[in-house]
Amino acid sequence: MAGKDNKGLLINLLFVIVLVLIIIYYLLSKEYLVIIIIGIIAISILLVILTAIYYTERQHKKLLVDMAHILYDKAVALENAQKEATGGIAEGNALIPIEKPDISFSDVAGMKSVKEDIKKAIVYPFEHPSLYKLYGKKIGEGILLYGPPGCGKTYIARAAAGECGASFLNLKISDILSKWVGESEKNIRAAFSAAMKNAPTILFFDEIDAIGSKRGESLEGHTKRLVNELLIQLDGLEGPKEKVLTLAATNAPWSVDSALRRPGRFSKLLFVPPPDFHAREEIFRIHTKNKPIESKIDFKELAKLTEGYSAADITQICDEAADIPLREAIKGKKPRKISINDFKQVMKLRRSSLPSWIRSAERELRKGMEDDIFDELTRIIKEFKGFDTKKNNP
Ligand code: ADP
Repeated sequence: MAGKDNKGLLINLLFVIVLVLIIIYYLLSKEYLVIIIIGIIAISILLVILTAIYYTERQHKKLLVDMAHILYDKAVALENAQKEATGGIAEGNALIPIEKPDISFSDVAGMKSVKEDIKKAIVYPFEHPSLYKLYGKKIGEGILLYGPPGCGKTYIARAAAGECGASFLNLKISDILSKWVGESEKNIRAAFSAAMKNAPTILFFDEIDAIGSKRGESLEGHTKRLVNELLIQLDGLEGPKEKVLTLAATNAPWSVDSALRRPGRFSKLLFVPPPDFHAREEIFRIHTKNKPIESKIDFKELAKLTEGYSAADITQICDEAADIPLREAIKGKKPRKISINDFKQVMKLRRSSLPSWIRSAERELRKGMEDDIFDELTRIIKEFKGFDTKKNNP
């Protein structure tokens, strides 16, 4: 580039010199020689100045382009930082939703045996990797949580990460399929890579049934490639398994691809049931902890009234009960605490969301599946039928 600039300058100078020589040749003997020479010198100076301006501008342009590049890089870095601040890690073009959960098992009501199993498979290996190595214990068997929607599968997986200070990466398969169209496989790789970078990490696959083939139906095109990529990545975790542990969840266990349930993948199945009486009482307590409630509220009565409700239904009831005194206060009434009547009023309108899931589980059971999920599903359907169906059915 510099060589080219010098060449241009040289040509201009040569042009000026030749011009001067020609003019001198014609006008040497004439009387206005001095004036003409001064004129020529002035023109030469002007030409040199113009040339200098021209090259300075080119340099200036280059500087501007360099600055634009730097600014662009800064903008991309800022955008990525913003994505991370809003709950994600930017990995290539994908926004990987990675978090550091601030809840632990003490925030999860009930589910005693599920907590114990997750502790054994995930929490203890993360907390004591060297002990596991010393005693030759195998780490990294993926867990598949299954059960009705809104009963705490995602919540307990997040709490498990909080329990041992791990990062939590929640990958909703439907998001991968819809938002990442055409880039799904690349984004799965990006997700595993982000999980490694932020290790220890719990990698959580929600709605894992969305990439499953239903009972032997063959997968096609894009979905097949996605399942393959997921399996490659899962199997590839073989080495660093003590750093990234996997959990998956489904509301439709009967639809999960059998390839995903092989040893080394999600071979351990854990049922996450609807909350029992004590769990419901505890959920009311947990989700009103930071709300102004009347001291005489009887959580046992609320638990009795919500038989057959999911944990998410109860969380919603707590939220909506708070809206009643809030609306009154906004309209000018004196702010008051949330009363048991506020909860009861909301419950009149909000029924359990579980009956439709129970019906589809029942349909699946009628198909005569021979599976280890059979017993749990049969038990829960039976239990549900014992509830006051008039109250629970929408
Ligand atoms: P799922 O993944 O099974 O569909 P979630 O884990 O998303 O359900 O649960 C929905 C919400 O219900 C959670 O965000 C949480 O507020 C509440 N919740 C679920 N299970 C519990 C629990 N055991 N204790 C307290 N809150 C719970």
